[in-house]
Amino acid sequence: MRAFAEKLSEGEPPAGGVLYLCATPIGNLRDVTLRVLDTLSRADVVLAEDTRETRKLLQHFGIQARLVSFHDHNERMRSAQVLEWLGAGRSVALVSDAGSPLIADPGFHLVRTVIAAGFPVVSLPGPCAAVAALLVAGLPPTPFLFLGFLPRKPGARRRLLSSVVRIPWTIVCYETPHRLLETLAIMAETLGPARPAAVARELTKAHEEVVRGTLQELWERFSNVPPRGEFVLVVSGWSEEGKGAEE
Ligand code: SAM
Repeated sequence: MRAFAEKLSEGEPPAGGVLYLCATPIGNLRDVTLRVLDTLSRADVVLAEDTRETRKLLQHFGIQARLVSFHDHNERMRSAQVLEWLGAGRSVALVSDAGSPLIADPGFHLVRTVIAAGFPVVSLPGPCAAVAALLVAGLPPTPFLFLGFLPRKPGARRRLLSSVVRIPWTIVCYETPHRLLETLAIMAETLGPARPAAVARELTKAHEEVVRGTLQELWERFSNVPPRGEFVLVVSGWSEEGKGAEE
């Protein structure tokens, strides 16, 4: 791995006064891009949601970086600090624990602050669980509506889903293992039990699995096999043909 890290230095160094948004793997470490490794190894500061998680990734590739914690609770304070670093000509990279930063992860406030201050923001694209799931769901990939994590409280979840019943776009959302079954039940109730859907589990990992079926079938399946791991739910949008099932 050392040789790999050395080779990285052949690339262009990240420019000073720039914020880089770096996507990292959602399971399989080999999904990281060469450009992200290059940037992480040479940025003056790497903002990491959980420095221990990011250190594991960096160690795997033999990279040393100046890691600084960056999470929901210190985002505002750090954003002010980042402006000082950028103003001093330093390059700053942002990563989350997995996937693309800002997508159900911290970073939005920082990006707004950096844009408002007039510094460049550069996106280094890569893994994102929502997009990875959308690709394998077997449902129309565009247009799609990404809802992130649904509200924790069942009432609020039901209200949100009721508000999108008539939207003819594929719906994508994140869900935790302990709420998956309840969410499938609420979806079957609000969107209709016959709506085609897919549950993408543990993408890019050893136990990767995509289960496709109607909302009712998926609910039955996960009632029999307790949900474990990380999940993305992809649900078909409203259609004229399917409306009978929903009304
Ligand atoms: N920023 C990340 C992204 O770009 O996908 C998402 C972070 S969010 C805090 C974590 C959620 O993403 C998990 O609870 C799960 O819903 C989804 N997720 C992350 N990795 C996944 C994987 N390997 N397979 C399925 N879902 C995953």
